[in-house]
Amino acid sequence: MARYSNDFECGPFLIRLNIYQKDFKEQRIMKYEKEINRRKSFAIISHPDAGKTTLTEKLLLFGGAIQTAGAVKSNKIKKHATSDFMEIERQRGISVATSVMSFEYKGNLINLLDTPGHKDFAEDTYRTLTAVDSVILVIDSVNGVEPQTRRLMEVCSMRATPVIVFINKMDRDGKNRFDLLEEIEAELKISLHPMTWPINSGKEFKGVYNLHDKSLRLFTASTKADDEDVVAIGDLSSPVLQQKVGDRDADLLREDVELIDGVYGALNPADYLSGKIAPVFFGSAVNNFGVQEMLDTFIQIAPTPRDRDTNVRKVQAGEDKFSGFIFKIHANLDPKHRDRIAFMRVCSGKFERNKYYKHVRLDKEVRFTNPYTFLARSKDIVEDAYPGDVVGLFDTGNFKIGDTLTEGEKFYFTGIPTFSPEIFKELVNKDPMKTKQLEKGIQQLTDEGVAQLFTQFGGNKKIIGCVGDLQFEVIQYRLLQEYGAACEFRTLPFYKACWLTSNDKNKLNDFLRYKQQNAAEDKDGSPVYLAQSEWFLNTEITNNPDITFHFTNEVNK
Ligand code: GDP
Repeated sequence: MARYSNDFECGPFLIRLNIYQKDFKEQRIMKYEKEINRRKSFAIISHPDAGKTTLTEKLLLFGGAIQTAGAVKSNKIKKHATSDFMEIERQRGISVATSVMSFEYKGNLINLLDTPGHKDFAEDTYRTLTAVDSVILVIDSVNGVEPQTRRLMEVCSMRATPVIVFINKMDRDGKNRFDLLEEIEAELKISLHPMTWPINSGKEFKGVYNLHDKSLRLFTASTKADDEDVVAIGDLSSPVLQQKVGDRDADLLREDVELIDGVYGALNPADYLSGKIAPVFFGSAVNNFGVQEMLDTFIQIAPTPRDRDTNVRKVQAGEDKFSGFIFKIHANLDPKHRDRIAFMRVCSGKFERNKYYKHVRLDKEVRFTNPYTFLARSKDIVEDAYPGDVVGLFDTGNFKIGDTLTEGEKFYFTGIPTFSPEIFKELVNKDPMKTKQLEKGIQQLTDEGVAQLFTQFGGNKKIIGCVGDLQFEVIQYRLLQEYGAACEFRTLPFYKACWLTSNDKNKLNDFLRYKQQNAAEDKDGSPVYLAQSEWFLNTEITNNPDITFHFTNEVNK
């Protein structure tokens, strides 16, 4: 890579990134620069069982946030409990406490945002991804790319989120390493850049070779975080390599590395930051192997709080004035503790307890006497928070997903997508005396993001769309408990909702009229086509070239 005067060596990298940060700094003097520059907010994402919880725990151990292994409870909802949503809610309640785990590592303040493992809560995960600046994607070396991996990556790609890939479970007989990289690149449509390279897998797994600092880390189960097993191998032809891994594996590694160097070259951090290239690490989370290498790289290259788009202008993280948005709302179903917590990501300035802020949608001044941070061990009242931080705000029904708080300016943060639900049911009122309560209840629950509400075009049939069946049970229960409204659901034959736009208003209106049975409006009055099957959807797309069918929608348009 050509060198610029601003480049400097930082561990394995030639940091071109510095150029950007320099320009950035010259544009303005940032009041909270120190706080912003030491923060990294990210999420670990994976298909269930790939090792997200295990990796989280190891990262927290490095950060000193926990002392013992086993301290992080999996927020995975136990399989046997899938029909018992109260139990699931109880577990979700526990997971609220660990929604954000903050820890210090080598002078950095790292905010790790947790994402639910259960697929019925996938929307929660997608929204959490709007609040982070980068992600670590865990892939099981045996199973490779799995359905949830694919969907999560789609969301990351939409937002050009920087991704680091951790290929886990190298202590098991996994797929061939080259095949695996090829599969990930093809299926997830991202270019990879190996940072470490494994020597075998399963019982034969001998360790990883660090391609940048040219050192070998030998595999021992339950490796401690020290450098005992790291051997510097300046030159791969060195006999030390044979001594450590044997003739056959030494030769194999030499061949592999020659091939990799030829194909990948050096990593340009700018390509990682723009979401084009994902650095890849191989390891074994349960054995704490390969984790520190990844964490050390993460703190060097992962982005600090990024600037954010709004409907009016770009908000820079370093601006003096506070702004933030709500990306998740958690309602407690326990009738004894019926509280709601709105999760707010700070985007700029400094958030302070007891200070008045503008709730832009409601055009109202609000203040928070007990905002709290989420730490791995406890919930603490927070006095102030900076860009990249997440604050929990007690809410009595004032917030919906995407709501923006500012020091007075009027704008909404954009880039908070809604995805098509997968199950659609008609909401049937069972008690006409409680129609008003039902209306209010369903409006509020859909504001929280529990489900999406559509109204049939030209009628008033209410259609609820969810990602999982579980949410229908939750809605029925909450409407009765919280609003005194009894309802039932009637299954509808739809499989997807597409938002429609067109430059030709008449064509769009004609389409909606002809397709009344499949046409609806979402909560904001945007037209939606409800497709029975992929075949119908493709047919309509082909037959209506003047109409655009969108698979996602923006919360704040
Ligand atoms: P999550 O669903 O992604 O949070 O996955 P977990 O962290 O709960 O891990 C799922 C299972 O895989 C658990 O039984 C872990 O002990 C196991 N596991 C995690 N990492 C490794 C690894 O590196 N090697 C092996 N063999 N098992 C692992």
